[in-house]
Amino acid sequence: MIIKSAEFVCSNTDVKLLPAPQLPEYAFIGRSNVGKSSLINALTRKKGLAKTSQKPGKTQLINHFIINGEWYLVDLPGYGFAQTSKKNKAEWEKFIRAYLTKRENLQCIFVLIDSRHEPQKIDVDFCYWLGEQGLPFQLVFTKADKQSAVKTDQNVAKFRKTLLKWFEEVPAHFITSAEMKAGTEEILQMIHGVNSG
Ligand code: GDP
Repeated sequence: MIIKSAEFVCSNTDVKLLPAPQLPEYAFIGRSNVGKSSLINALTRKKGLAKTSQKPGKTQLINHFIINGEWYLVDLPGYGFAQTSKKNKAEWEKFIRAYLTKRENLQCIFVLIDSRHEPQKIDVDFCYWLGEQGLPFQLVFTKADKQSAVKTDQNVAKFRKTLLKWFEEVPAHFITSAEMKAGTEEILQMIHGVNSG
């Protein structure tokens, strides 16, 4: 897919105020600092579209962007930062879970996982929860330029194996590097496939 336009639409703290669900929507989510903003900017080829390196714990917003006037890309607040209070965590869960379970035009949730690490409980638990809810998701491993391809593959395999304890089938995955603009075309192709299917 060629990105002809990528524009910010709105930021919301209330799921009732989201844009009308008339276009297909794809959400990006992951642990804080996983590289989500960098990946969104690499996908859309628009530097600064999503704000990188925001301080964890800042206002939690659902950010909508419209791509080619045809679909929404949604930047969700990151989870699992160390500084967060119990109250913040509970609020994040209520807000994001309401969005994920109720958004009728949501086609796929891209769960970003840092490819440098062995499976982290918080990511695994989040995938289990998505599975329990029957929500469509795919895995996106980030920062693959940071280590050898062998190491990345090992971590990916371990993550998939962990999910297989619960899932009969593990969703597709993408290996990406925002730095090298790698894996972005594959994600866009998948989105294009769903939108035109
Ligand atoms: P977010 O909190 O998930 O939105 O993460 P950011 O996109 O702000 O990235 C967090 C940090 O990781 C920043 O210092 C980025 O420059 C760095 N980073 C993000 N993606 C990559 C990548 O693909 N490769 C490398 N080497 N660094 C990355």
